[in-house]
Amino acid sequence: MESFSDLFEQVLLLCKADAEMADVTFNLFFSDLKPVSFANDTAYLETTSDFKLDILKSKYAELMKANFQRLLGFPVEIEITVKSPKKEEEEQPKPAFQPENRDKYTFENFVVGSGNKFAYAACQRVAKDPGMIYNPLFIYGRSGLGKTHLLMATQREIIQNNPDANIIYTTSENFTNDMVSFLAQKNMEEFHNKYRSVDVLLIDDVQFLQNKMSFQEEFFHTFNALTQLNKQVILTSDRPPKEIDTLTDRLRNRFESGLLADIQPPDIETRMAIVTKKAQQYGLNLSPQIVEYIAEKLKNNIRQLEGAVKKIFAMNSLSETDPTFEMAEEAIRDVQTDNMPVGVKTEKIIEYIADFYGITPQDITSNKKNANIALARQVTVYVLREITGQTLQMIGAAIGGKNHSTVNYSISLVEKKMRNEPAFKNTVFEIINNLQE
Ligand code: ADP
Ligand code: MG
Repeated sequence: MESFSDLFEQVLLLCKADAEMADVTFNLFFSDLKPVSFANDTAYLETTSDFKLDILKSKYAELMKANFQRLLGFPVEIEITVKSPKKEEEEQPKPAFQPENRDKYTFENFVVGSGNKFAYAACQRVAKDPGMIYNPLFIYGRSGLGKTHLLMATQREIIQNNPDANIIYTTSENFTNDMVSFLAQKNMEEFHNKYRSVDVLLIDDVQFLQNKMSFQEEFFHTFNALTQLNKQVILTSDRPPKEIDTLTDRLRNRFESGLLADIQPPDIETRMAIVTKKAQQYGLNLSPQIVEYIAEKLKNNIRQLEGAVKKIFAMNSLSETDPTFEMAEEAIRDVQTDNMPVGVKTEKIIEYIADFYGITPQDITSNKKNANIALARQVTVYVLREITGQTLQMIGAAIGGKNHSTVNYSISLVEKKMRNEPAFKNTVFEIINNLQE
């Protein structure tokens, strides 16, 4: 080995492989880690921020030591110090405007970290050999953690490998809507043909099959028909099969019969890598401090991380200079409304639904009996229960002191109407989706 810096480069490559680090993560922490000198069996290194120092020390120091030893044959100590970079004199040209990429749901654009690497690997494996190993593949994790992204990436990959593959991607909503419309045309045979002739069936958000017994029945048969022919089925859900209430036992057993892969919220390094990657995609030059700040503040939802970058992009689009810390603060405040306390959320939900029905929030909390107002009130009750999970008493209190049985009655009315009127059901789901964006 020529020099300490050559040696150090080898050490880093080994570390990267051992820890299965994604390129973005690696670049974030190691691209500016500088080998300064080697003396008394100690490697002296320099990084650029206290934050990186912490991560390097707590997560990667042992690994680096082990790899130094592997290459040198004797134990090595590591000393890392922080040296802030001088401000770049040269003006970097501002990258051109980059509208959101339509093809963003690819494996390449998916940042892999400890929380999602299992699901990621499972999808890649299935994309390579659909129908052959994990069938079904059931991916679950909370909203905004990348389930739809993985599903679409898998679909793309399968099509790339086999352009003739017959693949259906659908949500469980669409599946049920589709069934309703074929039923209405008394054309179930065609429905069966459509879903049972595919090579790969991807169904997003199967938790919505909850409470829909007749659909579950149909789905069960579709599912069996496909898996018996070794056709790949991939499902996603916001919770594991055992937590989907009122799922029939046989369907639950089927869901659990392949591979269950969960996605956990991303750790700090993955969050930083995601912010960095999204910023790159928007051609946005975010300082390391801003990246770190966003990743620290938004912990549970990748959609929010992305939302913050998008907001900063919008705020900064007319500016000649790089985004400021203040912009980041504001962007975070904006996307955090999603994390607001239940009380505030309840208020927002009431406002939103009132607005949707062209009435006022006071109408909703009143005792007025006009059909439109009564319907909006019932929908509010239903949506409050879906989104906030409050008790019937709490919901009653929120809509102007109604009692528990009124609330209960409203919910059953809405459920019935949703069963009978697909358009109404879509409206309700649309409201829920919009409120959860
Ligand atoms: P879910 O379906 O679990 O609610 P999505 O797949 O819709 O979540 O992800 C929300 C957003 O976050 C999408 O824009 C997606 O591209 C992005 N996203 C999620 N996970 C990752 C990841 N690991 N790397 C890059 N982007 C991600
Ligand atoms: Mg999704």
